[in-house]
Amino acid sequence: MSDYRPDIARLQSFDDGEWLAVEREYSGRLLAYVSKRIRDTQAREDVLQETMLGAVRGIGGYDPIYTFEQYLFGICHNRTIDHLRRRRLVTLDTEEGEEDRIGITARAHDEETPSRIVRGRDLEARARGMLIEILRAWVQETWAEGEFTRLMVIEALMHGGWRNRDTWQRFGLRDETSVAGIKFRALARLRELAAKRDGSKQLLGAIAQGAESGEASLDMSIESAWREARVSCPARHWLARSLAGSLEPGPREYVRFHVEEMGCPCCAANLEDLRDRESKADLSAIFERVQASTLRYLRSRSRA
Ligand SMILES: [Zn+2]
Repeated sequence: MSDYRPDIARLQSFDDGEWLAVEREYSGRLLAYVSKRIRDTQAREDVLQETMLGAVRGIGGYDPIYTFEQYLFGICHNRTIDHLRRRRLVTLDTEEGEEDRIGITARAHDEETPSRIVRGRDLEARARGMLIEILRAWVQETWAEGEFTRLMVIEALMHGGWRNRDTWQRFGLRDETSVAGIKFRALARLRELAAKRDGSKQLLGAIAQGAESGEASLDMSIESAWREARVSCPARHWLARSLAGSLEPGPREYVRFHVEEMGCPCCAANLEDLRDRESKADLSAIFERVQASTLRYLRSRSRA
């Protein structure tokens, strides 16, 4: 069972049908995200509407290294912050914390800052894109092997910034060296995956360099790539199955860890949306209004 993925080329050609499909699919989880942060129901609807319009406007600069959902959550996060800032309900501190948890360099996707899109073409960004790819590949194979403790340990270290000392206790491992061992093997595997993909050996070079300088710089690149691209977010159907109670203990524990202990706001919004799906008849009016506004914008564009 695979999750819905929109046709980006059709979105970029401002295809009505594809954009409406996107709204049907994503409005619920975006609204769940906004509702956690904004109390006023009219404002929630405005933010959802602005998010969708921002998505249409910015789609030309969409960077496929991120999932489309990340693109939307990034814009939604910005619009939410803009709203709270207008109401002076947010301090710089909470903004930064939130940015960190959502893990998206949200502005990158927005129409206001093309600078990052330009930078996205340079070498460093390509190496970073490759690092994101190998991290995703590592997460997938670790998941497929059923090694959920390994996955949680690495996520705790790389995403959560946990220390070895706290990590071994949380996962009931023998001692700190077990944590160090898990990390050592994960890094070795990442190097293998990099070697397979990296024809020009640029990324491999960077990774080897990180190893020589005590792994500190490698850790930092992995940490920021892990967060920014949310490489470990389970697909939506896993979240749906966790709600239905039909997951095996391994993935069930992982989903719980990822949402509750790592505090992933996007997966939390997805879960909330899934939980409320049936009772969402009352939301259809909101979704219709948002759709109407997107359609108006698309039509005005096609006339231009
Ligand atoms: Zn997540």
